[in-house]
Amino acid sequence: MTAEAKIRAACLIGWPAAHSRSPLIHHYWLRALGIEGGYSIEAVPPENLAEFVQHLSRHGFVGANVTLPHKEHALTLTKPDARARAVGAANTLWYEAGELRATNTDVEGFVGNLDACAPGWDTASDALVLGAGGASRAVVFGLIERGIRHVHLANRTVERARALADQFGANVHPVAWEAVGDLLPRANLLVNTTSLGMRGQPALELEIGRLPPRAVVADLVYVPLETPLLKAARARGLRTADGLGMLLHQAVRGFELWFGRRPAVTPELRALVEADLTRD
Ligand code: NAP
Repeated sequence: MTAEAKIRAACLIGWPAAHSRSPLIHHYWLRALGIEGGYSIEAVPPENLAEFVQHLSRHGFVGANVTLPHKEHALTLTKPDARARAVGAANTLWYEAGELRATNTDVEGFVGNLDACAPGWDTASDALVLGAGGASRAVVFGLIERGIRHVHLANRTVERARALADQFGANVHPVAWEAVGDLLPRANLLVNTTSLGMRGQPALELEIGRLPPRAVVADLVYVPLETPLLKAARARGLRTADGLGMLLHQAVRGFELWFGRRPAVTPELRALVEADLTRD
């Protein structure tokens, strides 16, 4: 075995090989912590996924991130934890006692970012979550895990909000999109998980002035870095948590599982990824 083959390495499995910020993030942490390790992008077509995942260590990896279109399939090839099962998708794989495990780190990316940007956010009694797609599942699961009593879930297609509420139980209340305005005055925490506000998409039109004075506003969209929603919330003096923060915080656990050290989300790392995002 060559010296190179002994280096601990993780990878991002996707198809086609998408542009991703994950190598930038993990290489930064490897350098910062002085760990000799690697992180590469592996383009794996759907028909080869099962073989690749089931023999991940033979392919030279101690773990992996999984992205489109493999996140759901990866769940069935591994032993998922409660978060991955609840979200219905795996984005991080690692070995534990010889078994290949899977989790979904969007859950702790979301809550970790809120902990960093708005400590005490979890004293909110009522959260209003907009959107009921894949990202919303991670957000709703994180809110329930942290004990938020009322999660009001609004979606353009209300049936999707109902289906999610059925899965997550009595703390989640599905509401029609048209009811959002009237819920704002009791939303101590507002979370946008829709793609509204993303570059090329319409803005999310909300009367921010109707939120309580100490509300916290989180937006999962990170292109642009400052969405119209975050801008309006900051102009009103509300605490905010942005999508880039979530993206960085979701990477922490994978790194820790693969390389054995818990890395920090530093201003320097954020600046590095911000510069990369603005190059697009
Ligand atoms: P998704 O599964 O496709 O869900 C999209 C959601 O947006 C659905 O609820 C959809 O409503 C809603 N939507 C789309 N267009 C709309 C419109 N014109 N009016 C009202 N609602 C609209 O996508 P996803 O994977 O959940 O991702 C959602 C966003 O989160 C994306 O911007 C993504 O980049 C971001 N994200 C960020 C992170 C991070 O780390 N920061 C992680 C994951 C996702 P319908 O059900 O009615 O179609």
